[in-house]
Amino acid sequence: MKALQYREIGAAPEVVTVPDPEPGPGQVLLKVTAAGVCHSDIAVMEWPAEGFPYELPLTLGHEGVGTVAALGAGVTGLAEGDAVAVYGPWGCGTCAKCAEGKENYCLRAGDLGILPPGLGAPGSMAEYMLVDDPRHLVPIDGLDPVATVPLTDAGLTPYHAIKRSLPKLVPGSTAVVIGTGGLGHVAIQLLRAMTAARVIALDVSEDKLALARTVGAHEAVLSDAQAAAKVRELTGGLGAQAVFDFVGVEPTVKTAGAVAAVEADVTIVGIGGAGLPVGFGHLPFEVSVSAPYWGSRGELFEVLDLARAGAVSVHTETFSLDEAPLAYERLHAGKINGRAVILP
Ligand code: NAD
Ligand code: ZN
Ligand code: ZN
Repeated sequence: MKALQYREIGAAPEVVTVPDPEPGPGQVLLKVTAAGVCHSDIAVMEWPAEGFPYELPLTLGHEGVGTVAALGAGVTGLAEGDAVAVYGPWGCGTCAKCAEGKENYCLRAGDLGILPPGLGAPGSMAEYMLVDDPRHLVPIDGLDPVATVPLTDAGLTPYHAIKRSLPKLVPGSTAVVIGTGGLGHVAIQLLRAMTAARVIALDVSEDKLALARTVGAHEAVLSDAQAAAKVRELTGGLGAQAVFDFVGVEPTVKTAGAVAAVEADVTIVGIGGAGLPVGFGHLPFEVSVSAPYWGSRGELFEVLDLARAGAVSVHTETFSLDEAPLAYERLHAGKINGRAVILP
């Protein structure tokens, strides 16, 4: 089968032919119908050789939707042809966090060498993919594969981040979304569906700001050195009760801290490497700063239910598997508005 692989440190990903996978005991083989392109893959492909955590070659793709093509020995509860979305942050399934459905925070995945598809294990950017356990699959029940596949990460990750701050996002509150790309443009819709907060979106690109307005942001502000002052002005000097940074670089975390209201939540989702110091004099009183990772299995069901209710509509641009390297180039250049989706 064809697969998109990252094969050599620093090199562009390539479409190659690899052996067709076969499901072992307990595994499920999916015929992939859609695979999402996440900015995290670009970060991975920029990491240096020293300390690189995964084996190469690596088949990319940690957002996947497909139909069940074959069941390994002992798998029950699924049938060939079922349309499913893949919950990506695989855990051990038995520790206390996994028991809560929070496999993203599995206590034993590191020790057991369990890695998510596309981030260590072979991913979804291939004609077929192996899923290690049927519990990693959520039925999509009538949803469109292309519109749904980004929800497994670009939907689930902001959903989890927003849920933490729901008690603060009461009527009259403000939420700031920094970076309105794949994750950010879904975050705006989730905020509108789940809260009464006024949503202020920040991005460096006019196209992204236009998309932010289209998907429901009340205000769209250019992310520059004046952005924080603009947000303060828009909030009558108070600042925002929740700030979501989907970039995570020095200038954006600085803005995030500068727009935070007293007792605000600042959530750094972007993996740009920057942090925000907490301590007297650094931030307004009682601001909490958090850096979450992905979301729980139960939350993926909730996100798909929101999509079924018509509350989120992901803007997608589709590419064939042969065009997948181009999708990454365009994402790297900031030219994807919404989420790029590969159709293997
Ligand atoms: P994307 O490229 O689709 O979107 C990023 C957006 O940020 C773009 O619209 C870009 O124009 C904008 N941007 C860049 N610099 C900016 C600045 N200085 N100010 C404001 N906006 C700026 O990327 P994505 O796939 O949505 O991923 C967003 C981030 O989230 C990445 O760092 C990714 O690695 C990370 N991520 C984290 C998790 C997690 O679990 N923590 C999960 C998925 C993705
Ligand atoms: Zn991702
Ligand atoms: Zn576990």
